[in-house]
Amino acid sequence: MIAEIISIGDELTSGVRLDTNTQAISLRLGDIGIKVHFHTTVGDTLADNIAAFRIAAARADIVIASGGLGPTADDLTREAISEAFECPLEFRDEAMRHIESLFAQRKRPMPERNRVQAMFPRGSKIIDNPHGTAPGIDLAVTTSMPEGTMKQCRIFALPGVPAEMLEMLEHTVEKRLCEEMGAGQDRWRFHSLKLFGIGESDVEQLLPNLIARDRDPRVGITVSKATITLRIAAQTATESEFQSLIQPTIDEVRGTLGQLIFGEGEVELHQAVHRLLADRKLRLGLLEVGAGCWIAPMMSQEQDGGRFGLRVADWSASERELHSRLSISTTFPTPDEAAITNGSQDTIPSSHALLTDTLKRAAESMLKERDIDAVLAVGTYPTLEEVTRGVGLPHTDFTMCLAVAGKPPVSTTISIGGHPEVLYHRLAKSALNFLRLELSRA
Ligand code: ATP
Repeated sequence: MIAEIISIGDELTSGVRLDTNTQAISLRLGDIGIKVHFHTTVGDTLADNIAAFRIAAARADIVIASGGLGPTADDLTREAISEAFECPLEFRDEAMRHIESLFAQRKRPMPERNRVQAMFPRGSKIIDNPHGTAPGIDLAVTTSMPEGTMKQCRIFALPGVPAEMLEMLEHTVEKRLCEEMGAGQDRWRFHSLKLFGIGESDVEQLLPNLIARDRDPRVGITVSKATITLRIAAQTATESEFQSLIQPTIDEVRGTLGQLIFGEGEVELHQAVHRLLADRKLRLGLLEVGAGCWIAPMMSQEQDGGRFGLRVADWSASERELHSRLSISTTFPTPDEAAITNGSQDTIPSSHALLTDTLKRAAESMLKERDIDAVLAVGTYPTLEEVTRGVGLPHTDFTMCLAVAGKPPVSTTISIGGHPEVLYHRLAKSALNFLRLELSRA
């Protein structure tokens, strides 16, 4: 069964409003095993709406539209469906009574204009809208195809208000799709593997058979803020069937990419690191040098709903003329071990060799002075001005140093480039990944 979603409204085609209904409907349909092949967005023009409905009915088995069911002159969905499929509009008492009762409940007189919302294309069923005046339309249509065959399509038109649309989709439309059209037997299921430290095209090159379009399960690659997600998808009746189907794929990916995988499911890198620290009962100190403080905010999100604190102390460094600053923070793996942080008055050296040395010393002294088990010291974050200065995007040398109690500190310096939108995430995540790999090795 193929579905098409039509979103209607000038506010959508003009970009004033983001079309969230299409996303919500697609996700819900995926859950009951219906594949969405087309998303169409159309403005408030009758001819365009008629064309959109005709095209959709000719290529999809199910069409779900949202918007344009209000009482005003620019609400054209009823008329468009009626004209597209030659089903004249007729008045439905039942719908009228519902609209009148809503106005009565709200103690407001019903404007005459709202009568139009009780008009339905001939042969259609009403989709109740418990919380709004716009009932939905459910119409089965038949289209004659150019090759002489007849094609059936079921059209559901819902109001645009996201909450009303979703309620009607869940309560009525999905039920009808499952009970009357046999949907819901197999549903789309997904499992993600999260990677850091490799490019999208390198993954594709290392796993060429995996990304093949006709594969079952399917594997897709997406990148967000320097993290790669391999999304494994398949349509199965049960979760256990899905798990057995995807296991060989997971094994193949793990066999090839090994340590590049930091987690499965919806986990983010900082959460994986936090889990690792918590599992090993390690208290971590963070020392971030440069323009910004990127790791501490990520890690502090994981502080269990703010039940224990993370304070970041920062101040300007006098030796460096750039807007560098030294931030010191500590995070703790368990809620009981509340964090108390202070700053040291270290200054920031200008050369990277010196920086590595300073970071190591600062990490070691932080380790000694505070009641913590490991310190991750990183630097320096470039200023936005440094990142965007000159032609192209320059690379940044970034040093990461880990001091663990009872062991000599380890460090590495990498050279990273990228658009400012992702560069800082990449720097912070590189450091977290360095920490993850070093801790996994220990
Ligand atoms: P109403 O009875 O409220 O007029 P309607 O069916 O005519 O309902 P619209 O007027 O098109 O719906 O939209 C109602 C509200 O829902 C508007 O605020 C609109 O921006 C929002 N909306 C409409 N379509 C979408 C969509 N696809 N995604 C997100 N919001 C939407």
